[in-house]
Formats: sequence, C-alpha cells, structure tokens
Amino acid sequence: MDHVSGLRCRECSREFPAEALHVCDYCFGPLEVVYDYDEIARSISKESIADGPRSIWRYHDLLPVDDSNPVDLGAGFTPLVRADRLASELGLGELWIKDDTANPTGSFKDRVVSVALTKARQLGFKVAACASTGNLANSVAAHAAAAGMDSVVLIPHDLEEAKVIMTAVYGGTLVSVKGNYDDVNRLCAELTSEYPSWAFVNVNIRTYYAEGSKTLAFEVAEQLGWEAPDHVIVPVGSGSQLTKVAKGFAELATVGLLDPDTHVRVSGAQAKGCSPVATAFAERSDAIRPVKPQTIAKSLAIGNPADGWYALDAIRNSNGSCESVTDDEIIDGIRLLARTEGIFAETAGGVTIAVLAKLAATGAVRPDERVVAMVTGHGLKTVEALSGSVAPTATVLPTIDSFEAELDLREPARHGTDKS
Ligand SMILES: *Cc1c(COP(=O)(O)O)cnc(C)c1O
Ligand SMILES: [Zn+2]
Repeated sequence: MDHVSGLRCRECSREFPAEALHVCDYCFGPLEVVYDYDEIARSISKESIADGPRSIWRYHDLLPVDDSNPVDLGAGFTPLVRADRLASELGLGELWIKDDTANPTGSFKDRVVSVALTKARQLGFKVAACASTGNLANSVAAHAAAAGMDSVVLIPHDLEEAKVIMTAVYGGTLVSVKGNYDDVNRLCAELTSEYPSWAFVNVNIRTYYAEGSKTLAFEVAEQLGWEAPDHVIVPVGSGSQLTKVAKGFAELATVGLLDPDTHVRVSGAQAKGCSPVATAFAERSDAIRPVKPQTIAKSLAIGNPADGWYALDAIRNSNGSCESVTDDEIIDGIRLLARTEGIFAETAGGVTIAVLAKLAATGAVRPDERVVAMVTGHGLKTVEALSGSVAPTATVLPTIDSFEAELDLREPARHGTDKS
C-alpha cells in the first residue's frame, strides 16, 4: 500500500502505522488515514477512473485499502439527478440530487461498510460488528454475509421494522438493546476491549470506515464532468459523512482532478429533535452539547456525535450553514422530493430536503449556486413515518359508476399543468 503512509492523530499529529487503531494513545484524539498524494497524483487520472468498476472501487487510489477483490455488493456509482422541478419550487437554479437510495442495501452506509470490511478482512478479522441507528446494521449484516464473515450487530430496541428485518434476514447475530443509540454505542466501545478479535466498523476500524464517505464527493465531481458544485447539503448524524465529503473535494484538488481553487460550501442538515451540531452553529459555540434524541429521523438520532466538532469546523471553514427541521417538516420534505422528482427517501432524506428548502428561503443557499443535496437512504426503510400522511385517493367498487362517483378526474387541469 504505497499510497497510504499511515495514520495520524487529528489532535496532536502523532503518527501511527496503518493498523486497527482508532485513538491516539497520547491524547486520545481520533486518528485519520494519511496518504502519499504525490504518489497518488502520479497513478490516478480521469481515464483510469473511467476504466474502473461502476462502484466506489473506481476510486481505490484514494481509499485506505489495496485489494483487487474487495468486499463489494456494488456500493456507489449512484445516480446524480438534475432536479429542475424541485429547484423551481424552491426558487433555486441548478440543483442536483445525489440519489444514494440506489445503493445495494438502500443507503449510503454501503460505501463505508464496503471499505471497512475489506480492511477488516485484510487485517485478519473474522467477525464484523457495529453499533447502528439502522442503516449501518443493514449494510454490515449484508456485506458480512457476502464475505463469509460472522456479524454481531447492536441496535436500539425502537428501530423501524424494515431496518430490523433487513438486518436479521442476512443470518448474523442481531442484538436489540434497551437504550438509545448513544447507550448502544457506549456498550460497543466497552465490548471492543472485551472482544478484541471483532472488527467494530464504527469503533476500532472507524478510521478506515469513515474514508468510504469521500466517494460521495468523488462521484459528484466525476458526474458533473470533473467540476465541483458550489454548495452541498449533507445530513449529519455522527458528522463523519459531512467531514469526509468536504475532505473528498479537497483531495481531488490536491491530486489534480479538480481545479486547485475549488471551493465547495458544505452545509449540514439535522432534525430538531436531535440537533447538537445545528445548535452549536446557531449559538456560534465551539462546544457540542449532547442531547437526548427525539425524532422520526432515527438514522440521524445520535445525541453525542463522535465527529460533531469536526463537522462544525468543516461547515464554518467552507462558509456553509447548518439548520434543523421539525418532524412535520421532514415528512413534507419526503413528500416534496417524491412528488417533484420521483425519488422516495427515508426520513434522513426528508431532513436534507427540508433543510435545503429552509436554507433556500433564508438565502443561505442561493439561486446562482450549483447545489447538490445528498439523499442518503431509501423511503421503504421508514414507511411508518408516513402512515397517516399519505393514503389512497379513494376506495371504489370495481365499476365505472363507483369510480366516477368517488373521483372527479375528467377536468383537463388535473393533467400536465397541475403542479401536484
Ligand atoms: C448514518 C446516516 C447518515 C449520517 O451519517 P453520519 O456519518 O453518521 O453523519 C445520514 N443518512 C443516512 C441515511 C444514514 O444512515
Ligand atoms: Zn494525539
């Protein structure tokens, strides 16, 4: 792996070898992968990427693991959709949706898990484990099954039914914990020292796992013809994805695939019921105050976000913004995206779209910007969030008389021009 030179503490900059380490043993700061960008710049090119697989692995030069046979269900290379109908409703100009609902298990977590389990297997781990708000659970269980690894997945007991079934079906060990995500995560951190032979993707191999999120930025740039957007809207749970999206654009400029003057504003999206980062941003504070989550956006319900401070820093450094939205606004966001663009997102996607709408209304996202919104999970995962909000238009008998008695669809205005 001559393109990775090791790990480095994000706080004190001490260096470590590229092993299963995640905290600095001097200052307890989190570690980050260090690359040899000169080496990468010599081997990577737009052509070499274009010749690669239609997955995140086309960017293997900028991922922290060398493996010609990665743990791969086909994560990444998801559509970037031009969203003109949504843009015109929001008063925006060039708007794109990064549709990560199209991933193998229906969320962006497949990107991070594919990288994490590839590295874990290489390091000799036989068991893949994680603490999850749901989507990570789905993805770890699926990728472990495909790799022939055992999995141990811990989730809070109150997750959406689809996420529970979609984890259990892959046949690993699924543990439902009577507590919220922050309780589950703490338990996992304790288990990591009790079971050192397990690869906890978001604990002891988090340093590698987190790098997978950079591929969102890589794909957006490639899909825009190797240009950066002006502004991206990213949902924030632990804050890892947001920091890595920012890092991804910066790396492309470093290795010569984007203009060296590239500047991408990165804005964060949270649910009001769990908004420690948005709150710190609004209060111009450096301290992320932990909260007890209470929101339908369960995949973002992390009250004490591991990368919260780094996300806040990335937002401020890029001149971005951070907002939060209520559960009702999240549902409106899901419905708005579905009816304008034909994309059905889970609650985290509703958070992104509702925050986009809010930032467009305040002028923090401008009509002269090229904007990309990250829609990170599929709506079938969280259907309960919409029960009571959407239903059949009418219920009829199988006769024309009943159809016409219950519905009035003959007016031409119902077709084409009606914005609903
Ligand atoms: C986990 C998750 C996020 C948040 O990612 P973080 O790296 O935890 O900030 C966003 N959207 C979906 C669908 C997720 O599952
Ligand atoms: Zn340190």
